[in-house]
Amino acid sequence: MAFESLSDKLQNVFKNLRGKGRLSEEDVKAALKEVKMALLEADVNFKVVKNFVKTVQERAIGADVMNGLNPGQMVIKIVNEELTNLMGSETTEIAYRPGQQITVIMMVGLQGAGKTTTTAKLAGHVKKKGKKPLLVACDVYRPAAITQLQINGEKQGVPVFSMGDKNKPADIAKASIEHAKKNGFNVVILDTAGRLHIDEGMMDELVEIKESVDVAQTLLVVDAMTGQDAVNVAGTFDEKIGIDGVVLTKLDGDTRGGAALSIRAVTGKPILFCGMGEKLDDLEQFYPDRMASRILG
Ligand code: GDP
Repeated sequence: MAFESLSDKLQNVFKNLRGKGRLSEEDVKAALKEVKMALLEADVNFKVVKNFVKTVQERAIGADVMNGLNPGQMVIKIVNEELTNLMGSETTEIAYRPGQQITVIMMVGLQGAGKTTTTAKLAGHVKKKGKKPLLVACDVYRPAAITQLQINGEKQGVPVFSMGDKNKPADIAKASIEHAKKNGFNVVILDTAGRLHIDEGMMDELVEIKESVDVAQTLLVVDAMTGQDAVNVAGTFDEKIGIDGVVLTKLDGDTRGGAALSIRAVTGKPILFCGMGEKLDDLEQFYPDRMASRILG
């Protein structure tokens, strides 16, 4: 299960705090030292951990906590609130364009992150919101990717626009908008090509697609299991092409938590959804407060 080790460690720290009754400044500091270790072991970004502990400590050593009736509970409440803040405090939805305008969502990410699966999952989510989505196959390098999108699109009852693998992705994207206009689709979701690693060619192509159509939102798909690598990938994609948010996949696995807890704080970009399995309905909206409560057990 995700965050299992982090959860266990934090619960241990808090069990000790709860048992103490009154807390001294030293008690709080010692507890936060353990919280710090637990977060670092969960692969949370070092700077994020440092700031987090500093903020919690400043709040916890305030008079309210020390003189409160239940200081242990207060410290736990502060940790919960600050964990929530780390992940963005509010839930972020897709920002749909108003009226008849087409909302173009561009999906980007490294190969294997779960981009094509997530794209189809998202199409289902968009459809449930009462929109008319169109999926677009812009990955022209892997014929299997086009087939995968077509199969998944069919399962979701969402049409897939494809021009095979002989056209430039930017041209396919442009043509798909015309197709959407003519056929009454109001959300266009572009599945773009990923590579195993970040490379200039891939970034240039993504920039070209972004320049050729009016993209409302660029969502980066990253694998939660890759921890700080996911955070670095997010930083690079944002720098090179600009991203508006992140979808964190494979949160059903035994990820330690580093990506979920660092991405927002490091890149400033919210997590919109998380992938909770391989099936096409395994996509959940990301709620920072629920995630924090889940981590704290
Ligand atoms: P892409 O190369 O980024 O397009 O990745 P794919 O969509 O082909 O996914 C790569 C693998 O990850 C596939 O086996 C997917 O079934 C799997 N996958 C994607 N999202 C999730 C998820 O949220 N949880 C789990 N357990 N597997 C996922």
